[in-house]
Amino acid sequence: TEENILLEVEHLQTGYGDLKVVRDVSLTVRSGQITVLLGRNGAGKTTTLRAITGLNRTYGGEVRYLGKKLGETVAHRRVAQGMSYVQEGKRVFHELTIEQNLLLGGFSTKSKKRALLEAVQEIYEFFPILGDKRSLPASSMSGGQQQMLAIGQALMAKPKLLILDEPSQGLAPAIMKEVMERVHSLKATGLGILLVEQAVQESLEISDEVSVLDMGRTSLAGPASSMTLEQLQEAYFGTS
Ligand code: ATP
Repeated sequence: TEENILLEVEHLQTGYGDLKVVRDVSLTVRSGQITVLLGRNGAGKTTTLRAITGLNRTYGGEVRYLGKKLGETVAHRRVAQGMSYVQEGKRVFHELTIEQNLLLGGFSTKSKKRALLEAVQEIYEFFPILGDKRSLPASSMSGGQQQMLAIGQALMAKPKLLILDEPSQGLAPAIMKEVMERVHSLKATGLGILLVEQAVQESLEISDEVSVLDMGRTSLAGPASSMTLEQLQEAYFGTS
């Protein structure tokens, strides 16, 4: 429904300096839902996320968040308004413990220690492996576990919108599935999730909405349940 819309991107144009990479991208993210942004390498997925989070300027179109046009709102203001972004290949602090890494993730909320420790407990409920290993250095964890830690860190900021750039990157299939299942379980908290993925099948399984990007333009968008594989393939490879 209209009232649970968190993020609306309409005809977004963005890029780097004079280089316009994203020419016409539209997508919607609702509370308690996952929207997946698909597309080939270099299609403009990361660049789209950078404009949504305020790291890149918007050249045209608009980004509305919580019903308001974001315009030139700087990145840290967007974070304060509940946007959390886990960038592609995000690294955690290897020499710090899992718990210390999580506590750092809550730093920007200026919460008291006690509230932070409560938030950490909530993260352990979603990612039990992080609780089991709380006192160990992050370097002792596998790639998949470190990805969960990076997501946990982002959750410590108590976001309304969680933006994940290729959380499955570099993971073995079984671990990838586990990360996807954990991400899926986060929907129950009412969080809206914008997911960029290369793993089409796995991400479709957990998503409510799909937006496919081809050379900087949305080539297909709509409810995941209504999409056929043929439609997706055409949208993916349409201009090749
Ligand atoms: P990938 O899955 O490979 O990350 P993507 O869909 O996320 O792909 P982007 O990273 O958004 O694609 O890149 C889109 C285009 O923008 C590419 O042609 C890339 O070369 C270009 N690009 C990316 N970063 C920069 C930058 N900092 N300066 C200039 N051009 C860039």
